[in-house]
Amino acid sequence: MKRKFKKTLCLLLSILCSVACIGGITANAEVSIPSVIKVGLFYGSNAKTSFGVSCERGYYAGWFDDRDFKEDKIIENTDIKIGLDTNGQVTAFDLNGNLLYQESGNQGLGISPIYTNFWEERFSIDGTSYRGSLYFIKDGDGIAVINIVDMDQYLYGVVSREMSDTWPIESLKAQAVCSRNYAAQNLNKHSAYGFDICANTHCQMYTGIEREAQSIYDAVDATRGQVLTYNGELCKCYYSASMGATTEDVKYVWGNEVPYLVSVDNSYEDTENIPNGVWSGVITVDEASTMMRNKGYDVGDVQKIEVLEYSPNGRVIKMRVTGNTAIKTLEREACRLVFSTVTKSQMFTVVGDGEAEGHAYVAVTDGQKLARVRPGKLELLTSVGRSEFQGETLYTTNGRYQKTYQDSTEVSAANKSFTFRGQGWGHGVGMSQYGARGMANAGYNYADILTHYFSGAEVTQVY
Ligand SMILES: [Zn+2]
Repeated sequence: MKRKFKKTLCLLLSILCSVACIGGITANAEVSIPSVIKVGLFYGSNAKTSFGVSCERGYYAGWFDDRDFKEDKIIENTDIKIGLDTNGQVTAFDLNGNLLYQESGNQGLGISPIYTNFWEERFSIDGTSYRGSLYFIKDGDGIAVINIVDMDQYLYGVVSREMSDTWPIESLKAQAVCSRNYAAQNLNKHSAYGFDICANTHCQMYTGIEREAQSIYDAVDATRGQVLTYNGELCKCYYSASMGATTEDVKYVWGNEVPYLVSVDNSYEDTENIPNGVWSGVITVDEASTMMRNKGYDVGDVQKIEVLEYSPNGRVIKMRVTGNTAIKTLEREACRLVFSTVTKSQMFTVVGDGEAEGHAYVAVTDGQKLARVRPGKLELLTSVGRSEFQGETLYTTNGRYQKTYQDSTEVSAANKSFTFRGQGWGHGVGMSQYGARGMANAGYNYADILTHYFSGAEVTQVY
């Protein structure tokens, strides 16, 4: 009933909005993003000394001036090798090792496929197919490879990695806008290597044309040039797979405050019926100790893991790990990342196998009835100020309130393992991808989805 009302309200709003701002999309000339993006495929420790490249109709060879290709020569061979000659110059060879083209100075070598239609506009490098052009630049003893590609063709690759092409079109469109925002916001993130973003989860997963599908083309094309803005500026469109009943306010994850990254309802996600929506996992004391050490927190053998504080949305924001040589308190996202092989999100409980599970409560009486109240946190007002209660038993007698705080979560035996139980997969900030799917299935469009997860933001046309 409530959902139906919400849907009707949304419909009304979108009709009203369509009068004021044409289909709910605002035009904005202030925000500008390039229509071509530079994606790092091989660089640093992945740089190689030789690559095999294939293309059906041959190539234009030349170099790049930032995002602009400067054509110098046509290579008719369909299969070539890119490597270093004896002087260390980046060079294109035929399969017999004859020189076809060489970089001038250290400006790198660019190749762009010759094609007559969209389906031919592709090449493969070491067996993986991409659109756009390739730029080879000397990187240490090897060669770095940059894919310089139209933004929306890049998004075909990204959206097809982020969501299944069988998902409803409005969720795919929401993902396309999020991924376009991400790319636009991270231009020059890897400028030290001469490109914008990498092709791994560090930035956004991108494996070329491998998973392209008609629904993906439709979603990207329908949102061409559209981004999400807040007060005329590009939004940080964070997203993760699932988030449980509510999304999280960014301040409980990364500590900063952002007006459009606040907690919102996520009831369309169907958390209990999706992969990794509800999860649990066990780690031994040895595993926990090693994970702590690997993150730079050596506390010796972990004896106890306790949640000290939850956010109002049920995510762990303060956690204490007690070892036999030290104690470490973790905050916000670190609570998820330190034991990340079992904790898929920050929304979890943890209990050791040696701990007696119990509940703390305060017994309160008004003189007639006795009520048990579960405190979230106990604070004491003392002559020297306010302090948090951390003892095990508290007795108060002032005539009105009689007894007690009792904490029965005491170690009854040494812990050998810890069990984590939780919900959601990912950091929990911004758009839930499964929530977007649920909203799309319920009839909402991509702008509804985006403005729901990013409070106060609007879809804006920038190219
Ligand atoms: Zn990256």
